Amino acid sequence: MFVTLTDDASPGDVQRELVRLGLWVTPLSAERGVVFRVEAGSAAVDRRQLLAIGGVADVAMPASPHPKLDAQPARVEVGGRGIGGGAPPLLCAGPCAVESEAQIFRLAEHLAAAGAEWLRGGAYKPRTSPYAFRGHGEPALRWMRDAADRFGLSVVTEVLAPEHAAAVARVADVLQVGSRNMQSFALLAAVAAEGRPVLLKRGMAATVGEWLLAAEHLLAGGASAVLLCERGVRGFDASTRNLLDLGAVALVAQVHGLPVLVDPSHAAGRRDLVPALSRAALAAGAAGLMIETHDDPGAALSDGPQALLPDAVSQLFAEIRGDHP
Ligand code: PEP
Ligand code: MN
Repeated sequence: MFVTLTDDASPGDVQRELVRLGLWVTPLSAERGVVFRVEAGSAAVDRRQLLAIGGVADVAMPASPHPKLDAQPARVEVGGRGIGGGAPPLLCAGPCAVESEAQIFRLAEHLAAAGAEWLRGGAYKPRTSPYAFRGHGEPALRWMRDAADRFGLSVVTEVLAPEHAAAVARVADVLQVGSRNMQSFALLAAVAAEGRPVLLKRGMAATVGEWLLAAEHLLAGGASAVLLCERGVRGFDASTRNLLDLGAVALVAQVHGLPVLVDPSHAAGRRDLVPALSRAALAAGAAGLMIETHDDPGAALSDGPQALLPDAVSQLFAEIRGDHP
């Protein structure tokens, strides 16, 4: 970004004002007048705020690579519920995979009573091993929709393949793109074409810039809104499953003004850390949480070690609802 000064401006005064706003400023030599370069990494300040400073003639900015995402409001409406932009945190929970009709009904009842608004659960599961449980598919979608309707919840579930997008869109309120598929561009196009809100998980080795451009693919392809979801990136230390990047959460929320949820379950990979990471995520500016739960984690078909018991979800959500009425 470049700030050009009027001929009668006091460069020192303007520079002090720019620095006061949190910007890192480098004076450039120019044929006429004074120009400051503002480093891209410094604070997010609206161009109009800079133009209002006495002595500033013009502010030139590079074109954004994700104009549709920039135009999306900080608070996104999904089913009449505002998410982000200071709205109370969205609470989403459910099993890693929908394992049976009875299981999802039991959990939906418990979670609705706990204050959850969204029910999560995989019908199509991306699994590292081809021999692991890969989800019950279409029947699981139906079970989840029925359970959510019975207890007044919305449904978010993952679309694993372009050919599943329409079937998932028929039952889900929000379509999820998983970490492993953040840059599966054919999948993004198929999901976007459904014209629905999308929860876009961050790729486990994706930069924030790549994540935002994947979100732009969705909006350019017709998605009605994009909610980002940080779920941890690959770290160097296997003590936790992934490294929860709360810096990225604060950046996306504050600098880009976008709603970002946090999934502390896949980040931690162990249930004992989930409450602390949930609190930290909200403190960093997360617009909500996505939590995995199971009523018999030892027998879970996937991700048992990170599943909170339903009563622990109730306790966590009660605490959060108390702090953010
Ligand atoms: C999930 O939320 O079900 C999931 C598979 O998570 P991720 O894509 O973040 O690994
Ligand atoms: Mn999982």
